[in-house]
Amino acid sequence: GPRVRFGPSPTGRLHLGGLRTALCNFLFARQRRGAFVLRIEDTDRRRALRGAADGIEDVLEWAGVAPDESPRRGGAFGPYRQSQRLHLYRQACDVLLDRGAAYRCFCTPQRLQLLKKEALRNQQTPRYDNRCRHLTPKEVAEKLSQGLDWVVRFRLERGVEPFQDLVYGWNKHEVAEVEGDPVILKGDGFPTYHLANVVDDHYMAISHVLRGTEWLTSTSKHLLLYKAFGWDPPQFGHLPLLLNKDGAKLSKRQGDVFLERFAQDGYLPEALLDIITNCGSGFAEKQMGRTLEELISQFEIGRITTHSALLDLEMLPEFNRVHLARHIENDELRQKLIRELQSLVERVYGDQQMDKEVLEKEYVEQVLLMRKGHISLLKDLVSCDYAYLWVRPSVSREQLQTLSAEVDDIGKLVLGLMERPTAVFTMEELNKDLRNLQKQTRETKYSSMMKLLRLALSGQQHGPSVAEMMVTLGPREVCGRIHKALS
Ligand code: GLU
Repeated sequence: GPRVRFGPSPTGRLHLGGLRTALCNFLFARQRRGAFVLRIEDTDRRRALRGAADGIEDVLEWAGVAPDESPRRGGAFGPYRQSQRLHLYRQACDVLLDRGAAYRCFCTPQRLQLLKKEALRNQQTPRYDNRCRHLTPKEVAEKLSQGLDWVVRFRLERGVEPFQDLVYGWNKHEVAEVEGDPVILKGDGFPTYHLANVVDDHYMAISHVLRGTEWLTSTSKHLLLYKAFGWDPPQFGHLPLLLNKDGAKLSKRQGDVFLERFAQDGYLPEALLDIITNCGSGFAEKQMGRTLEELISQFEIGRITTHSALLDLEMLPEFNRVHLARHIENDELRQKLIRELQSLVERVYGDQQMDKEVLEKEYVEQVLLMRKGHISLLKDLVSCDYAYLWVRPSVSREQLQTLSAEVDDIGKLVLGLMERPTAVFTMEELNKDLRNLQKQTRETKYSSMMKLLRLALSGQQHGPSVAEMMVTLGPREVCGRIHKALS
């Protein structure tokens, strides 16, 4: 099968754009029985953040998009951090130096700075003038013996060949006409992105490079490197950008696009994968609610278009509602939700007078099943709207009397219903029973009676239907609340 990789730089936390790139690679690998590699591109030592690589791998695992080979998991092509592969880049550089495809450059930072200033003064894009290309071996030896600092530059040839991008079609960029020879090995012995990328993709036997569209214009340069090494290049596919729905850049600085943040807020990973695959291309049709399995079987790389994907985060709760409902339906996943909800309830209502029984598994499970499809986040169930599920409301007789003068009669009728040994507590039956009860009142309209009962049971004027509340709370608790309100 194919081998693909995700190569984030550990400069911060993973955001939705990064997740989308990782996901495309993951889906591509899974559907073709290939391998998905996580490679940490930490060659920029100043920008690398401690712990970021672990954070990225954690969050990929959380999202269900775990790599097959990675710093943590290992694999036959390791190490998987570029900072641990420096010897490979140096060897590769030596090969290029020997072949005359690369050269040592001794230009001082001051000289480069001057070149830059001059270019800017002439309103040109700064580019290295390739001066050290022309040093003779003798000059190089002399400078080396003087102990001067050097970097290695790659000799960019003119006349690049076009390549076929899986997404953008035929492409080529005459890089040598735009830029000076690029540095491939820095003074500190670390490679730059371009060299490390090519060397690693080669030695890690990567067959397909699926990465952000910002690298499309660098690909010709990479192909020149492959050619200089005499290696077969992988196939490239560049992925369009993920933008805000107004077309603005999805900034990494916007705290709210980080995956950890969504996890903390209680979003399910499936909802995130679903929303980022629904806002762009890659599928025959848009369709909310795909599981990871469905994403794997339905993703088609050939359907990725060059249009940017526009993300509407306001839709995320809706995506989560759909996936949360599926979790509630699933016996195994529901057990996990029950435990989570139990601890949420304890945390939020633990210090209030809570009936012990509300923490019982059967009750919590009933709550979940009844509210399935109505809530976007699990934690909605501990918000004020649902406080009545966990603590008895205090409602006064006076409050109830504003809705009907027959409070006592209605209360007694409901108590009678709840205590009837033959009563069946399904919503359907209760709805019929409540209709009948209303007929036994003298002057209370059905709607007023429902308002009154909802208030007595929940302390609220809105919320689920009275029948649903009764089924959820159970006859004993319904009686308790009615008694309390009448007392
Ligand atoms: N480290 C690069 C990045 O952060 C990876 C680019 C690539 O996949 O080639 O985007």
